[in-house]
Amino acid sequence: MFEFNLLAECGGARAGEFVTPHGVIETPVFMPVGTQAAVKAMSPDELAEIGAHVILGNTYHLYLRPGAGIVAEAGGLHKFMGWSKAILTDSGGFQVFSLAALRKVTDDGVEFRSHVDGSAHFMTPELSIDVQEKLGSDIAMCFDECVKLPAEEAASRSAVERTLKWAQRCRERHSRADQALFGIAQGALFDGQRVECARRLIEIGFEGYAIGGLSVGESADEMYHTLDILEPELPKGSPRYLMGVGMPDNIIEAVSRGVDMFDCVLPTRNGRNGTLFTSEGSVNIKNAAYERDFSPIDAACECYACRNFSRAYIRHLHKAGEILASRLCTWHNLHFLINLTKRARAAIIDGTFRDFRARFLSSWHRNGADDVYIPGDA
Ligand SMILES: [Zn+2]
Repeated sequence: MFEFNLLAECGGARAGEFVTPHGVIETPVFMPVGTQAAVKAMSPDELAEIGAHVILGNTYHLYLRPGAGIVAEAGGLHKFMGWSKAILTDSGGFQVFSLAALRKVTDDGVEFRSHVDGSAHFMTPELSIDVQEKLGSDIAMCFDECVKLPAEEAASRSAVERTLKWAQRCRERHSRADQALFGIAQGALFDGQRVECARRLIEIGFEGYAIGGLSVGESADEMYHTLDILEPELPKGSPRYLMGVGMPDNIIEAVSRGVDMFDCVLPTRNGRNGTLFTSEGSVNIKNAAYERDFSPIDAACECYACRNFSRAYIRHLHKAGEILASRLCTWHNLHFLINLTKRARAAIIDGTFRDFRARFLSSWHRNGADDVYIPGDA
C-alpha cells in the first residue's frame, strides 16, 4: 500500500513520491501542523488551494480532547476534520516530554497529567499506536523519548535505548495495513549514538525514518552535521523526515542533505504574530517601517495575500486586532514554505538544485531578519 519512488537526485537532494491511501505525497514536502485537528486559521479547502498534500495531526492533543474514540466514531480523522488528503500523526512523545513537571518516565511508558483538566494518564508505546490507529492517519510515528539539549551523553544513551525498545513495541503493536509506521532516530548531538540508533531502527524495519530531537536549542551547524552523519545510514528507498524544522534556510540546507519531509508550527504561529517569510529574509509586519508600505509582503510571492493586499493594510489589521490579519499571514507563510519545497523539487528534477540553493540562500540572507529565530522556541 505504501511505496516510495525516488525520481531524481541532485547535489545530495532527492525528489520522490510517497504513495499513501490518501494520495501521493511529492517530496521534498512541507507539512502544515494541525495540532487539534485544525491548521490554525485555515480551512481544508484553503490548504488544498495552497498546495498542501499532507498535514499533521497531534496524538497527545486529540487523545485528551475530544478523545480518539470520538474521532473513530466520526469515521477517522480525515472525515472528522474534512480533509481528504494525507495525514501524519505524531506519537505524542514530544508533547509528553515537554511537560517536564508533569511526568514520570519508566521503561513501561510515561505518566503525565493533562494540561486541559489535570487528569492522570499513562502513555505507552502500545497506547500511542492504538490512538493513532483509531485516528486513522496515513503515517503514524513511533513513541520515542526526546531529550532536551544540551544533553549529557549518558542521558542521551538511555533515551536512545528506550526509544529503540519502544520502537520495537510500536512495530509489534501496529496492525493497520493502510497506515505506514515511521521510526524516529534519537541520539542528541552524539554521532555514534545517532548512527547506532538509525541502524537498529532499520533492523526493526519501518516504512520511513524520522530524525527527532533536533531544532531544540542546537546551532544550525550542529543540526547540519547530524544530518550529514545520518545521510549515508538511511535507506535510499525510504522517506526521511526531519521533525520540527520550519525555517526556510534550514529546510533548503536539510534538503541538500537528503531530507524529504518537514513539519513545524513556525509558519502558522509566526503568522499569527506578524512574522512573515519573504524571499529576502523574514519581516515583522507590525514594525513602523511598514506603515506606508503599499507593496505586497513579498513581490515574488503569488499567494492570495500577496496578490491582493499591501504590507500597510496587513500591518493595520494586526494593529486593529482583526482576525483577517492572522488568516492572511498564515496563508502567506504556509504558501511560502510549500512553494519553496515545490521549487526545490522542480530544481532537483531539472538538475539545477545547486544553483537554486545558492540563489535562495543568498537572497534569504540579503537583508538579515527582523526577528531572530531561536531553535527550540517552535
Ligand atoms: Zn504571499
